[in-house]
Amino acid sequence: MSFNDALKFYKQGNTFKAHQLLQEVVQQEPKNENAWALLLKTSTDAQEQQRVVKKLLALNPHHPAALEYQSQHHQNLSAESSEKIYEMLWDCEYCNAKKLLGKTHRFCPNCGAPQDANARYFPEEKDKVAVQDHQYFGADKICSACGTANSAKAEFCQQCGNSLGDGKAVKQQTEQVQGRDGKFHAINEKPTESKNSNGNSTLIWLIVLGIVLVVGLWAVLFWNKEVKAVVTGHHWQRIIEIEEFGERQKEDWCNVKPSDAYRISKEEKVRSTRKVADGQECTTHKIDKGDGTYAEKQECQPRYREEPVYDDYCHYSVNRWEVERKIETHGDDKKPYWGKVSLAKEGNCMGCEREGDREEVYQLLLKQSDNSDSHVCDVEQELWQKTPVDATFKVNVNLVTGGAHCGSLKLIK
Ligand SMILES: [Zn+2]
Ligand SMILES: [Zn+2]
Repeated sequence: MSFNDALKFYKQGNTFKAHQLLQEVVQQEPKNENAWALLLKTSTDAQEQQRVVKKLLALNPHHPAALEYQSQHHQNLSAESSEKIYEMLWDCEYCNAKKLLGKTHRFCPNCGAPQDANARYFPEEKDKVAVQDHQYFGADKICSACGTANSAKAEFCQQCGNSLGDGKAVKQQTEQVQGRDGKFHAINEKPTESKNSNGNSTLIWLIVLGIVLVVGLWAVLFWNKEVKAVVTGHHWQRIIEIEEFGERQKEDWCNVKPSDAYRISKEEKVRSTRKVADGQECTTHKIDKGDGTYAEKQECQPRYREEPVYDDYCHYSVNRWEVERKIETHGDDKKPYWGKVSLAKEGNCMGCEREGDREEVYQLLLKQSDNSDSHVCDVEQELWQKTPVDATFKVNVNLVTGGAHCGSLKLIK
């Protein structure tokens, strides 16, 4: 039974068989990363997947498939395993003894005073005392008669013997998280007030700006008045495009260049980027368990970096028709004509020419009656041809820009 056998089945599409074999392979070769990775791929059982991811990360903390799995399932397998329990500390207010242990020292070892469980604190790094084989029963209960903190599983106060049935749980310290500076601070310490009001005023300004824009746009589009305008002249323009067949320099990604490309030169260029797993980012949390201990937990997120993806970029030549020159005629009379086309060479040779698109424009020159503003309107050739100088139109003029809406032209006489 080997990894290669399993791989063969996997490639044939028989993932079930591959999965079976892999379970045996990893027993025989527990350090075979590839086998674990393929086992993860072929597994359909969530519990097994989690177990395999743990194994993979233990073998290789940067294993891409394992990190990928972690980020997809938003959970932290390594975090669970890296929880450690330490003693909380307290200070005796009677004899001033400092840094007493929250779990071990229920009473001051110096003067015998009971621990004030509500005043426990997280130790500094150098004062940490680990708790071995910690059993957790819940946060301590405070005796309502004498105020002593008792283990959650106790039924009677070990100080005064009172029943703990109605005892309140001790006050637990706020969870702490390690900042970028390495120091721990309470997890909900976030300045927010001032930012919020800033954000609000920005939002109000954006809304005001939006309204101004909408009103402005409406005015430009629709705030019109109807005026009379008199035709003062005509203008026409006709264009014939002449295309030439020849070598054109182009560039594009090599895989999409045309098949008739020639004189090709290649270079490598960044075409896209992809996310690559790049280890993980961990933060340490301190959580007061309320029984004189706290848990130090690592929470890790997979980290990614962008990596450029290179591809071949081509510079090449192709032979294509392209507009090379235009034959233009124009006039201010009512006798439009096309320019004379003379081609250098006809056919499909290099340097041969052919006629391309034609374009024609007919314009009426207008003078607004009330203020003598002039306007130029593109119209259909038929209307242009039959409209004499001094003809009168009704036309809508924008009150903001003063421009005429040529689409609204109506001949009066
Ligand atoms: Zn004391
Ligand atoms: Zn008591």
